[in-house]
Amino acid sequence: MQAVYIESHGGPEVLTHGERPDPQVQPGAVKVRVRATALNRLDLYTREGGRGLQREFPPPLILGGDCAGDVSEVGAGVRGLQEGDRVIVNPRLSCQQCQACLSGQDDLCRRSQFLGSAIDGSYAEYLSVPAANVHAIGNAVTYEQAAAIPTTYLPVWNMLVRRLELKPWETVLVLSASAGVGTAAIQMAKDVIGARVIATTSTAEKAAKARELGADEVINYTEEDIRERVRELTGGAGVDAVVDHVGADFFGPAFASLRSGGRYGICGATTGLRAELHLGLLFTQQKEIYGVYMGTKEDMREIVEMLNRGAVRPVVDRTFPLARAADAHRAMEATGFFGKLLLTQG
Ligand SMILES: [Zn+2]
Repeated sequence: MQAVYIESHGGPEVLTHGERPDPQVQPGAVKVRVRATALNRLDLYTREGGRGLQREFPPPLILGGDCAGDVSEVGAGVRGLQEGDRVIVNPRLSCQQCQACLSGQDDLCRRSQFLGSAIDGSYAEYLSVPAANVHAIGNAVTYEQAAAIPTTYLPVWNMLVRRLELKPWETVLVLSASAGVGTAAIQMAKDVIGARVIATTSTAEKAAKARELGADEVINYTEEDIRERVRELTGGAGVDAVVDHVGADFFGPAFASLRSGGRYGICGATTGLRAELHLGLLFTQQKEIYGVYMGTKEDMREIVEMLNRGAVRPVVDRTFPLARAADAHRAMEATGFFGKLLLTQG
């Protein structure tokens, strides 16, 4: 089959488009003919070998996690899925045997593996995944929309609904509106929960798109001070909750923008992994901080339910043919996009 893989770590030039053996379908798994794959930061980190993702070669590794396509083969013992089903793939595989998995907290599974990082992924014609990681999508949902969902909507859903318990009468600050997580957070906070949304971004063009998505207020952080502007917009009180997926560069002003007793969620750190926490403010103002990494299989089921009802509409910036994966990686590194970048196959 055709696939894009790496045989060493490095820049986009290490992405090789060529032939790889078809995956074998194990019992309990299904083979998926991939139609669309969404890029995530994890793909870049895996390619570079940064952030603890250094690995031994050979064998080569096929990159890619989030994807959607058609079931092309069903393994022994699989129930409820058949050849031809249109599906979305949850890229985080959990062991389904440990205490965390059995108690429904499979996001805490210590034996979990990520497609395209620990094992071969979705930059390929075919992929074999456990049936528990595959969900049927409705006919009105495109492969592109579905592929754009998992890695952005899982942490956002887990964070907004389960950890921060955001309420319709509350105000949430969403950092960096243009990234996949930012667009998902604005949309879910607004359309699903009904909260007031303040978003941050870097250009007037991105600000207009953030408003279209549902942001009530947008702060251009290249021109305005986030903390001061949040105070003005909240009558001096600060926001009830923060969605942070960018980390070091914005943690200080964003944490200071949180009201006393407010909740701060972190599901990524694209600008840097280390930040300074003012412990005095943390305890005297009784703020709460939550770390969120993806979500449970039940979170995924709920998101797919909303996707199929049309309540969730992922933002796709651009699509590239699979063979041009390196160009897609360069586009992601350049950060001049709004929403998700995708690889598609006919
Ligand atoms: Zn487990």
